Amino acid sequence: MIQTGMREECGVFGIHHHHDAANMAFYGLHALQHRGQEACGIMAGEQGEYDIHKGPGLVHQVFTDNILQKLKGSIAIGHVRYSVTGGTHSHNIQPFIFNYRNKTFGLCHNGNIVNYRELKRDLEEHGSIFHSSSDSELIAHMMSRDVYDNPITSLKRVLVELVGAFAFIIMVNDELYAVRDKNGLRPLSIGKLDDSYVVASETCALDAVGATFIRDVEPGEIVRIHRYGISSDYFSEERTESLCTMEYIYFARPDSDMGGVNAHEFRKLSGKKLAQEHPVDADIVMGIPDSSLSAAIGYAEESHIPYEVGLIKNKYIGRTFIEPSKHLRDRAVLLKLAAIRKVVKGKRLVLIDDSIVRGTTLKRITRLLQDAGAKEIHVRIASPQITHPCFYGVDISNFAELVMAHTSKEALRDFYGVESLEFMSLDSLAQCTPNRHLCTGCFTGEYLTETFTRLEEASAQR
Ligand code: 5GP
Ligand code: SF4
Ligand code: MG
Repeated sequence: MIQTGMREECGVFGIHHHHDAANMAFYGLHALQHRGQEACGIMAGEQGEYDIHKGPGLVHQVFTDNILQKLKGSIAIGHVRYSVTGGTHSHNIQPFIFNYRNKTFGLCHNGNIVNYRELKRDLEEHGSIFHSSSDSELIAHMMSRDVYDNPITSLKRVLVELVGAFAFIIMVNDELYAVRDKNGLRPLSIGKLDDSYVVASETCALDAVGATFIRDVEPGEIVRIHRYGISSDYFSEERTESLCTMEYIYFARPDSDMGGVNAHEFRKLSGKKLAQEHPVDADIVMGIPDSSLSAAIGYAEESHIPYEVGLIKNKYIGRTFIEPSKHLRDRAVLLKLAAIRKVVKGKRLVLIDDSIVRGTTLKRITRLLQDAGAKEIHVRIASPQITHPCFYGVDISNFAELVMAHTSKEALRDFYGVESLEFMSLDSLAQCTPNRHLCTGCFTGEYLTETFTRLEEASAQR
């Protein structure tokens, strides 16, 4: 497995020219909480004065009214962090602050830089000292090495060197810069709230602060938000539109739109396609809360089999509660989910899940339903088989962990002890967004060419 720096699937938020900027960032981050529960932070300020607060935990745990009141200024950026490597080291919590040519930069970042190691090695050879293992610090060092006074010129020079998936928000000189990688792998949207501009990983965060969606940041674009409005620039000539399919399938909140496509509608359509492709005779259709519910509704609608609520999720169990002990983690599914015995008992179930990664969650859920007296379980997965790791910052890290990389469908069906197990095909997936090209690397092993070349180079150097 080639390690490519920190793997992150996070949420970023920025607001410009608002009298209550830090509070708005708080609400925005709260709406993005599903993208990261490990740590969060907000930086606010104006005219060269900045305050920052960050720490481990959920947004409402890290920020009290008192703390928010101290974060003054009309510009704010914020971050929620989900990290899988090395736990939460306080050095890795964002926003990052760094100084560059007598200016203070704040930076929030979502994604993964594939050529992180090479770039970091180059910088270290030229005397840079790293305090964290975060991609964001790499950007900070690359920026500060630059000799130009204009942040746009520096940004362009830095961004063109980065290979991978990223969405950044940078705060400097009373301005915000919002950037998306040239393939648009990670989402980033712009909204307007009275005279203020808002940028966020997902449109649900724009809605949370009452902002109106304007447009997505384009792949390879640098959007500059300043006191007179917004302006736009591009750092790359070669731009494609390849949003991560997993955003639609699992990551994004159902009320978020990406590239004009709503996540709930995408999932519902995927459920319909799944019903057409893999029909089955059954009594009820149910989804695994929360991410599979939309697909289950679609399957039920298409198959004319009644939709039922057979599993209940305890909404008050956070990840932080579950993480610390292994014993608790093993029981996590039982703490999180309960079967409604009266619904399930004696029934033939179609059980919809959005995806299978390691394969362990579904084992526990099928056992739960079997214990509750299900007569038959037909598992339908609303995504194709995930057979390859993701190099773009998503927690699908290596072949060994991916059950469908080394297990047959039949063997997995037997392991679950279910009557049938089927996945959506790549063709059906493509029909869910007919007008959009999406990244499907983890289903096909076909990554964007440049990524692959860089990975091979990195591998050869080891
Ligand atoms: P696993 O198969 O790894 O035991 O669990 C997969 C389930 O966990 C999926 O149904 C999805 O709801 C959830 N999940 C958690 N993290 C991720 C992720 O990074 N990618 C995907 N595809 N699903 C995830
Ligand atoms: Fe998303 Fe899969 Fe592409 Fe990674 S490889 S960016 S998880 S679609
Ligand atoms: Mg799930």
